[in-house]
Amino acid sequence: MDTFDVVVVGGGPAGGQTARELAKKGINVLLVEKYESFALNNFSSAGMTLAPLKEFDLPESIIGAYWKDLVIQCTKKSYCWKGNSNKGVVLNFQKLREFLADETIKYGGNVFMGYKYISKKIVNDDVIIKLAANNKSQEIEIKTKLVVDATGPLRKVMYDENEQQPEMIIGSGTEYEIEVSQEIYDEYKDKLLFFLGHKWAIKGYSWIFPMENRILKVGAGKTHLTSLNQEKTDKTTRKITEKIISEYLKAKEYKIIDKHGGIVRYSMGLKDVFYKNKVIGVGDAVSAINPRGGEGIRYAMQTGELASKYIEQYLKTGNENFDEYQKIWLKKTRKKWKLSEYSAARMYSKYSDAQVENRVHFMNKNFTTDQIIDSLFNFKYDKVFLRAIQYSWVKLQYFFKKEKF
Ligand SMILES: Cc1cc2nc3c(=O)[nH]c(=O)nc-3n(C[C@H](O)[C@H](O)[C@H](O)COP(=O)(O)OP(=O)(O)OC[C@H]3O[C@@H](n4cnc5c(N)ncnc54)[C@H](O)[C@@H]3O)c2cc1C
Repeated sequence: MDTFDVVVVGGGPAGGQTARELAKKGINVLLVEKYESFALNNFSSAGMTLAPLKEFDLPESIIGAYWKDLVIQCTKKSYCWKGNSNKGVVLNFQKLREFLADETIKYGGNVFMGYKYISKKIVNDDVIIKLAANNKSQEIEIKTKLVVDATGPLRKVMYDENEQQPEMIIGSGTEYEIEVSQEIYDEYKDKLLFFLGHKWAIKGYSWIFPMENRILKVGAGKTHLTSLNQEKTDKTTRKITEKIISEYLKAKEYKIIDKHGGIVRYSMGLKDVFYKNKVIGVGDAVSAINPRGGEGIRYAMQTGELASKYIEQYLKTGNENFDEYQKIWLKKTRKKWKLSEYSAARMYSKYSDAQVENRVHFMNKNFTTDQIIDSLFNFKYDKVFLRAIQYSWVKLQYFFKKEKF
């Protein structure tokens, strides 16, 4: 039986970064991914700011396009925050994960593509993992000291098949990667465009992101507070995506390069289990994703980096100090994510179309490009709240003045 110090299950940004970090530390790590190629589940839009490139030393070769402007299209009007320099990137999600897997190998780790995690059992102090190879009918067993659950929304390793998981809100998204005319591409090439409000989005938001020349990513996401009827939802988000392509982009002739999509499962109040019985969770498997914007890649990679430090300690000392990992992560995100939960619930489910438009109009009038990016991506709410309080204060004073005179 093959033996590894650590087995990371799931080759997404969280698993890839964890395996890369562990391999760098000289740990005998195996990264396992159920798809044979990352092209087969290329589901993420992968839009982000510039910060993660530096933070994780990511190469130019995985960047699809840079963006400068941020645009929010509501039902009536479009609101633009102009950037005079590059403010972020849209990554090629396939290339990002290939890069992380390649780095794992470069630093001496191992990667099994096309192997699906089936089950685990603890024998003495080791974990025996059963994997099924996609292209063969037989199953294999491997031995390890610790398993990392990086299977994303499914949390396949932390919880056995029928085990109860914390209550989750669910988001699901559809995205079409399309090749358009040069004219259409040039209009959208430098911007991250989001749709809010009831005309172009349903209980969520939609988007147009640029990729390499003449390629755009167009998609729609929907949140579900209760259960998910995957088929029905996919139909809705597909419909909105197609409506944006035909009625908004007005693309008469375009080529579909790929249709993909995925789900997000997020535990309200962050009630996830971070460590249990030699399994440690990272990325979407511990709701690292931000609930308002659905930005998850950067946070998935951050949990991977943080977790790898505690994994190294565990291997050296045998000390299962994973509470500390959870504590540090929650200290960093809990307050911000709660505010995000609150604002997502209002924006996507409670606000009328007019309220959404008013809110975006207010932000457009009062926030500079850097301030809006800070609030949407870096959760620096201070300025936002300050402005909102000032705004309410001015309105209140105006109200009292009117009453007096
Ligand atoms: C439609 C959509 C658009 C998005 N857009 C953005 C965006 O613009 N920017 C952003 O930052 N985030 C975005 N996100 C979120 C982001 O993609 C996720 O937060 C991020 O991918 C989470 O990383 P992860 O590694 O935790 O999980 P995942 O990326 O889900 O990776 C989990 C991996 O585990 C593998 N796996 C699952 N089960 C098994 C098994 N049994 N055996 C072996 N392998 C298994 C899966 O195949 C997968 O490769 C988007 C998400 C969706 C659904």
